[in-house]
Amino acid sequence: MTTLTSFNSGLDQGFVSLVGAGPGDPDLLTVKGYRAIQQAEVVVYDRLVAPEILAIANEKAQMIYVGKKLDYHCVPQEQINQILVDKAREGKRVVRLKGGDSFIFGRGGEELEKLAEEGVRFEVVPGITAAAGATAYAGIPLTHRDHAQAVQFITGHVQKDGKEIDWHAAAQSNSTLVFYMGLKQSGYIADKLITHGLSDDMPCAIIENGTRREQRVLRGSLAQLPSMAQQAQSPALIVVGSVTSLHEKLEWFNINH
Ligand code: SAH
Repeated sequence: MTTLTSFNSGLDQGFVSLVGAGPGDPDLLTVKGYRAIQQAEVVVYDRLVAPEILAIANEKAQMIYVGKKLDYHCVPQEQINQILVDKAREGKRVVRLKGGDSFIFGRGGEELEKLAEEGVRFEVVPGITAAAGATAYAGIPLTHRDHAQAVQFITGHVQKDGKEIDWHAAAQSNSTLVFYMGLKQSGYIADKLITHGLSDDMPCAIIENGTRREQRVLRGSLAQLPSMAQQAQSPALIVVGSVTSLHEKLEWFNINH
């Protein structure tokens, strides 16, 4: 069914489709995301988007790179917002393409707030977030009846964002904890979790380059996390919880490749 807010509405007004590209393996893009990119006249994309996904765009589409590396922004956020507004006002079909899912540590909300304020029409196409994709490819189920009854996605930019995590709740929750952007803060994260009651033997994993051919999974205890992190490269996720021990039994991706 086509609605007024559909990407395919055919109206001359500009339109922004906020598309999550998935965590790495280009085949993890959704069909809806694929179609939006095919139809786009302008694609505004970040660093973590696979080249195979960019190649889906029409050769006439304008490709605008606004790459981000960790917390360093090649193009300031306000300028990205302005590009989206300007291109939509020119009547263009714009795809704003981000790694993983745009609403999970992706600033998708901030960009849409600006579009809403400016009266630009938009849609959101969800993507597979790194926590879901990387753990699936690492054979680490985020929940498991014998191990974890909940899962938390936590920013590793804990101190930088100025808002402290509720470490007590994280450590006591019987949840699998997944830290994004956490490599540099791994010492702090491990300290806080241990101080708040997690055992220093608690199994954990670092998944580097999840879902990509180069994927690497490092495993150890929470006490070993800082030294594991020193051997790991970005992009990487830190997963804390006994589910990570299932990796040995359920690993499939690195075996098949
Ligand atoms: N919106 C994205 C997250 C952006 S924040 C999403 O939903 O996945 C960037 C962080 O995501 C990185 O620092 C890393 O912690 C994580 N990340 C992104 N891609 C990854 C990958 N392929 N493997 C492991 N971690 C990844």
